[in-house]
Amino acid sequence: MLATIYILFLAGAQSGIFNDVGKIRTFTVAVVGVGGVGSVTAEMLTRCGIGKLLLFDYDKVELANMNRLFFQPHQAGLSKVEAAEHTLRNINPDVSFETHNYNITTMENFTHFMDRISQGGLEEGKPVDLVLSCVDNFEARMAINTACNELGQIWMESGVSENAVSGHIQLIIPGETACFACAPPLVVAANIDEKTLKREGVCAASLPTTMGVVAGLLVQNVLKYLLKFGTVSYYLGYNAMQDFFPSMAMKANPQCNDRHCRRQQEEYKKKEVEQPKVEVVEEEEEVVHEDNEWGIELVSEVTDAELQAASGTVPDLPEGITVAYTIPAEVTSGDTVEETEQSLEDLMAQMRKL
Ligand SMILES: [Zn+2]
Repeated sequence: MLATIYILFLAGAQSGIFNDVGKIRTFTVAVVGVGGVGSVTAEMLTRCGIGKLLLFDYDKVELANMNRLFFQPHQAGLSKVEAAEHTLRNINPDVSFETHNYNITTMENFTHFMDRISQGGLEEGKPVDLVLSCVDNFEARMAINTACNELGQIWMESGVSENAVSGHIQLIIPGETACFACAPPLVVAANIDEKTLKREGVCAASLPTTMGVVAGLLVQNVLKYLLKFGTVSYYLGYNAMQDFFPSMAMKANPQCNDRHCRRQQEEYKKKEVEQPKVEVVEEEEEVVHEDNEWGIELVSEVTDAELQAASGTVPDLPEGITVAYTIPAEVTSGDTVEETEQSLEDLMAQMRKL
């Protein structure tokens, strides 16, 4: 059966755009969070014939989530990783699966998580090729960020906003591009209040459409990265309200709070000096003007200095993109979402005064 699936994928690959598509089966990808985005991501990779998938999640399948893709009502009550593995094995039995039904943010699990992404490759003892963050909360993203910075593991972050009408993907190369602690996550600018954080007690909206789009963009970039074709987006936003897709690249912040990020930056600098310079192709996003026909507006006209004074580090952003929230200057791992929101409120208050 696999041969059939695989041939289909190969047949789709005869356009000459990408070479050596068979290499897909040599790669291992870890998917952290097997929810609305992660489950679809895992299915796409399985159907493409990925070599091995590591799945991490501690939730159970719920009937309340059946407006999302992938899981089915009869799986309600099963752990997401168990249900996902069962479905995915039936789709493509040639993929190797490794599942972990735990929360990666606890001390003990975090150590095990680090161990598995650094040792759990197709060939045991080798690291995975890519880690994908498909989680829905700040704490889990920070845990992935910490692990990947320490290991120098390349990863991709993804997210869908709480109001379900925007999302993003981001490629993070430790030491080279901004990590999750270097700069706040970015969202598409629009005149709606956007947050990528899931707040306690708040019932977030969810749309299978937005999740499907974000999973599609994520896996598209995973395939481009692994099979080396096209240009992998460093940051790609999606705003469903205007069908607006801003992209950008951000360098690592030398003042990042994560010491492993700073260490990776030093190592990257050394490597840069040693190796002949390879030109990084950055796609220039066409500037979208304030009076554009889609009605996309900048959030404010405040200067970078004013933004910084109001809310800590804010990256230099092209038009059309704004931050979802800012990291307070004195950020610690124990920071709560409330504190983060406070700084967003400060920022908004500052903007209203102008
Ligand atoms: Zn950093």
